[in-house]
Amino acid sequence: MNRGVDNGRNGVVECWSADTCITPTLYHSNTPPPPTSRAVSASERANLARKHFTKCHLCHHHCGANRSSGDRGPCRTGTDARIFSAQIEVSDELELIPTFAIAFSGCDLRCAFCITGKESWNPNAGELFNATALAERATAALEDGARSIMILGGEPTIHLPHVLELVALLPDSAKLIWKTNAHGSVGARELLDGLFDIWLADYKFGDDRCAERLALVTNYTEVVRDNLLWANQHSELIVRHLVMPGHVECCWRPIANWIAENLPTTKVNLRSGFWPAWQSRKHSELRTPVADTESKLAFQIAHEYGLNLIQ
Ligand code: SF4
Repeated sequence: MNRGVDNGRNGVVECWSADTCITPTLYHSNTPPPPTSRAVSASERANLARKHFTKCHLCHHHCGANRSSGDRGPCRTGTDARIFSAQIEVSDELELIPTFAIAFSGCDLRCAFCITGKESWNPNAGELFNATALAERATAALEDGARSIMILGGEPTIHLPHVLELVALLPDSAKLIWKTNAHGSVGARELLDGLFDIWLADYKFGDDRCAERLALVTNYTEVVRDNLLWANQHSELIVRHLVMPGHVECCWRPIANWIAENLPTTKVNLRSGFWPAWQSRKHSELRTPVADTESKLAFQIAHEYGLNLIQ
């Protein structure tokens, strides 16, 4: 995995965009730059990411909010970050657990069925972010046998400057998981390039109308697909889909079809443990768990398309 910024093409350093180029003075240098550790890259990029606080384009809402001066975009988030959970988790993918999972409060989506809606919709929930303390706890967890460190939310993309500050304090050898809703912007993912070993990305809706109705987001499928394709090229990718009642044909089948055509070997975790949490009851089809017949149909579809299912 590329831990640094040299793309390996004769010392030409990738300059992603005018806003995010992290080594502009090295661009088109004839001298290969020295290897850069993940910690150093993350520290440099944290400074660049903070530019988004005055004109935020971290997620695909691209609202341009000046978060420093009190403007708030759809994520309702300012410049502070808070953590609503930081602990060992054992209910994620088998190959990742036990993982030390750090959950940032706040999110740019408004999924009515969010299992952590109270914290995910409220960036003021939880304890104030402390990079040093979290890095110490995460490092201690690794020493005690945790297999990975997972950064999640809410949605961690909206707190990218803080995330990078934290990554800069973690051991380079740590296996890092980026758990995301895959609704980040191109600028955000470029700041993340090469820093995380695995992108664990949700693909929630296969129909933009469902995404608009249930998560208040437009153009969902195009954005998520673009990010998944990028993540697959720049990291290991695991796609997660939560089977929702009444959404197997409109959402899961097109997702399965697209994965089969575009990411045929990518690991897919199809989860059937939907619970009508948070504001699910506002939507008639989301008032119950998934029926056995629907769950079976979802797995049948996965097998029809030959998906690489994991647990
Ligand atoms: S993270 Fe997204 S919604 Fe929040 S301020 Fe930035 S662009 Fe706007």
